Amino acid sequence: MASTKIYDYIERIAELQRADSRRCTAEFGLQPVQLEVLHYLSICNQFSNTAKALTEYLGQTKGTVSQTLKILENKGYLSKITDLKDGRIIHLQVTDSAHQVLQKVIPSPLFNSAFKGLTEQKNAQIESSLRELLQALMGSSNMKTFGVCHTCRYNTHLGGSEYYCELLKVPLQQSSEQLICIEHQSPS
Ligand code: SF4
Repeated sequence: MASTKIYDYIERIAELQRADSRRCTAEFGLQPVQLEVLHYLSICNQFSNTAKALTEYLGQTKGTVSQTLKILENKGYLSKITDLKDGRIIHLQVTDSAHQVLQKVIPSPLFNSAFKGLTEQKNAQIESSLRELLQALMGSSNMKTFGVCHTCRYNTHLGGSEYYCELLKVPLQQSSEQLICIEHQSPS
């Protein structure tokens, strides 16, 4: 079956990626899951940078995520900011030192060197196939898509650099168009 072969490839790629991630995060005293947390927080929008959204994204328990956040805060990679409108909401923000680490290890050195050998066309083909696979997986599960804002059905372009979220009823900044969102929904 074709899907078995695809599964084998994905599994092997994931193993290689995990091993490479372990190697490069050790240099900064980080565990791969801690790097995943920092990476997520660096690519999500302001509606998704909470412990709750992170827990859903990683599919881990609340306790595990809270422990990871505590460690990252103690290491100076994360800061907590109370929402200006609702004091019950705490936003998680990656610090400058975390951004510096992310720049060095994402994508990991192994992936960087592998992709260097591929043409732009091949890169685009792989990206498109993986996006289709991810969409198919999301379509078969009840999990949130965590897609990029500009691909969301609620994103309305008002013209020029102005965008509006029809779900949350707020204007969107152009800079957040490429960020992922917990409320994202694919166009039907
Ligand atoms: S348009 Fe969609 S992805 Fe963007 S902020 Fe609104 S709900 Fe989130």
